[in-house]
Amino acid sequence: MKDRVTQLTALRKQLLQQMPDLSSVLPGSLLSRMVRCNKPGCRFCEKKGKGHGPIWILSVSLGSRQVRQIPVPSELKKEVEENLRAFAQMQKVLKQIAQVNLELFRERKRQQP
Ligand SMILES: [Zn+2]
Repeated sequence: MKDRVTQLTALRKQLLQQMPDLSSVLPGSLLSRMVRCNKPGCRFCEKKGKGHGPIWILSVSLGSRQVRQIPVPSELKKEVEENLRAFAQMQKVLKQIAQVNLELFRERKRQQP
């Protein structure tokens, strides 16, 4: 049976391979919204019309309760979704690697004479 440090080091290597291409990561989340044009007689907006859209918005938290909302052209939506997924994957794998390193640290301390 392999020792714990060898196991953890192998696991860390596996995790590193699950890292997405870091050059593509994009923070935030994608929202959709219907918009009203306020033109009289518009069949999408008048009465119980739902408005136009949906339009897509990239919502990015800037910290201290500030949020930036950036409209996303439909031709870029797919790419934005992929880049958001890459960001989420990066965060998930990063947390796992940090956890493995924490265990490795404990293990190395334990093995000190
Ligand atoms: Zn309208």
